[in-house]
Amino acid sequence: MQLKITNTFTKDLPADPLLENTRRQVSGACYSYVTPKTTKKPQLVHTADEVASVLGITEIDLKSEEFLNIFTGNTILKNTTPYAMCYGGHQFGNWAGQLGDGRAINLTEVEHDNKKWTLQLKGAGETPYSRTADGLAVLRSSVREYLCSEAMFHLGVPTTRALSLGLSGDEVLRDVLYDGHPDYEKGAIVCRVSPTFLRFGSYEIHSSRKDYNTLKTLVDYTITQHFPEITSRNKEDYLQFFKAVTDKTLEMIIHWQRVGFVHGVMNTDNMSILGLTIDYGPYGWLEGYDFDWTPNTTDKQHKRYRFGNQPNIGLWNLLQLANALFPLIEDAAALEEILNGYNEEFHQKYEQMMKSKLGLTTDNTSDKELIKELESNLHLSETDMTIFYRNLSNINKNNPITDDTSFLASVLDSFYNPEEITGTVLERWEKWFKSYTQRLQEETITDQERKIAMDTVNPKYVLRNYMSQLAIDAADKGDYSLLDKLYMMLKNPYKEQQEYQKWFAKRPEWARHKVGCSMLSCSS
Ligand code: AMP
Ligand code: MG
Repeated sequence: MQLKITNTFTKDLPADPLLENTRRQVSGACYSYVTPKTTKKPQLVHTADEVASVLGITEIDLKSEEFLNIFTGNTILKNTTPYAMCYGGHQFGNWAGQLGDGRAINLTEVEHDNKKWTLQLKGAGETPYSRTADGLAVLRSSVREYLCSEAMFHLGVPTTRALSLGLSGDEVLRDVLYDGHPDYEKGAIVCRVSPTFLRFGSYEIHSSRKDYNTLKTLVDYTITQHFPEITSRNKEDYLQFFKAVTDKTLEMIIHWQRVGFVHGVMNTDNMSILGLTIDYGPYGWLEGYDFDWTPNTTDKQHKRYRFGNQPNIGLWNLLQLANALFPLIEDAAALEEILNGYNEEFHQKYEQMMKSKLGLTTDNTSDKELIKELESNLHLSETDMTIFYRNLSNINKNNPITDDTSFLASVLDSFYNPEEITGTVLERWEKWFKSYTQRLQEETITDQERKIAMDTVNPKYVLRNYMSQLAIDAADKGDYSLLDKLYMMLKNPYKEQQEYQKWFAKRPEWARHKVGCSMLSCSS
């Protein structure tokens, strides 16, 4: 395998002087050298051909023994020194101190076609940051991360990616429901790929320790590697860096709201400094449109990370990053201005995004109200988000809205209980469709042109929670065909793909309360 190894991170940043793999507080350093755990009987389950080609890995490489051994942690790439990163984080609103890569090991950085990538194994064993856990991952959560990160990429959502999914051949003990019934599950390792895995927490940790030298070294490194448009290193430049991170974070969250993705654990250690979706844990996809929905059982009570709160949490997390960077900037007013800008830009960008979902290309002062009313109607009775928006593009703007329910025909499939659409609920939909079709009259584009445009922002296929679970159940029995089918389907989420039509359907009733389908724990 011909990878162009650069080892950028370990070359430029301070290392933990202790080489032992004991669990500890690591200060004055950005990472610790570690060796992935040797696995019992590694086996590849799936490889992502596209990600491989982004890295310059050929199809022949993918099938080689060398690839299997490297990407399950049994062999170390020549001239590399794998390492785990040190970071801290605010978890559920509270400072949690040092966290770090407890089960992720960066193999190295590589360069291909002028792009730089970090290769990271998740689930490859203990590190100094493993705290009380085992450094491993199970097949269930690894399938979810592997499929979802690739699905998100093809949806156009900024995200880390995945190169391979392998079984370690080892058993891992997990208590899925945290109810005192642990059981053995198959251990798995995903190779994740990203320009960087640095998180907000990577900066917070040094600031919290008042280690401003390491903080500055890390920020300077980040700018050099990932924000080349920033050319010097003074306070103004650090502000520009913060503004760039703010913009990227906002952009990512707007995409989440567009496709109905709920991250589930937006702690600051899970916020990428590049605004990439990172750390796919108890995430979920909206099925019924519900601002209050969270997939994470740990967050059931306060629902801090619910769908409708993601934009606010993004801002809260940026505030923590601003505090961490303050010693380099020392200008609270300037940082505040950027944070206030997030709020303003959010409203603008959100409206723009929602208008694109509705196929509106021109401006009208009533658009805000139209969007608000739609969002409120979508909560009136359980309505599948994906099907509703996808089918909305079939509306004929010249069809009159009459008293009967025929105007609802194109979106009827999205209602879980269409028989509930009567009385005031029906009246409200009638009112909305009247406003919407009237509004469409102001647009000069044809119905067909509008449909084409809407179908590029409203996906037909998303990784519904129960779909992952079906792929997991089969994979657990050694059948990877559904995993591959979903992987292929999700490469083209905006295309009709008649052969996958059966996945363009509401969640089946059996999945409503099934573990893994509606709610997920952090156990992984
Ligand atoms: P998460 O909520 O998955 O983002 O994880 C929070 C922290 O716990 C991170 O520092 C992880 O590296 C660590 N962690 C999660 N699971 C494990 C595990 N099985 N072994 C070691 N560390 C873990
Ligand atoms: Mg994490």
